[in-house]
Amino acid sequence: MLAGIAAIAVVLGSQLLASSSSGASMAPSASTVTSPLDIVRSKIRTLRSEHRGSLGEADGAVPGGTTVFDDTVPGVANLDPALLGALRQAATDAAAGGVTFYVDSGWRSSAYQEQLLQEAVSKYGSEAEAARWVATPSTSAHVSGDAADIGRTDATAWLSEHGARYGLCQIYDNERWHYELRPEAVDHGCPARYADPTHDPRMQQ
Ligand SMILES: [Zn+2]
Repeated sequence: MLAGIAAIAVVLGSQLLASSSSGASMAPSASTVTSPLDIVRSKIRTLRSEHRGSLGEADGAVPGGTTVFDDTVPGVANLDPALLGALRQAATDAAAGGVTFYVDSGWRSSAYQEQLLQEAVSKYGSEAEAARWVATPSTSAHVSGDAADIGRTDATAWLSEHGARYGLCQIYDNERWHYELRPEAVDHGCPARYADPTHDPRMQQ
């Protein structure tokens, strides 16, 4: 992979040098110019982050169209058995109304969670803002197998109305897809939601 990056960098560099030498009359002032080397460096950073994004199904990446019944997908199979059982029971009942429970994300390895966190820091611009959406490997309920992100909107609407009966609860106001098992909800309803994960005491570690 690194050899590949180096080769691409060399090609990019020679292309950029060729284009910049032929376009000398259009060159901006020296203080604002982005050197070909800077562009190559930024391209290498992008390639590296794409390479880092190659963690696959074994780490918890879930292929599109996966449902709660797909035992061959580790992101589903490695969920806590009680949570998975509740999801399947609810999904069976929801199916009678034509609703399918897709799993957008379930169990994740620590490496995959760390990758998602780094991507969120890039996307949101700071660790503080990223924390509103993505937990660390040591605090994430996905890494312990205790959370599933369910799609699509008909499924989350169904769970919002009927989930408590199965002990399935939305935990955060800002993540209507994120469900965890709260067995006491069967008798008492789901607990009050946190506005977002930063308000969850479990995240204060
Ligand atoms: Zn989640």
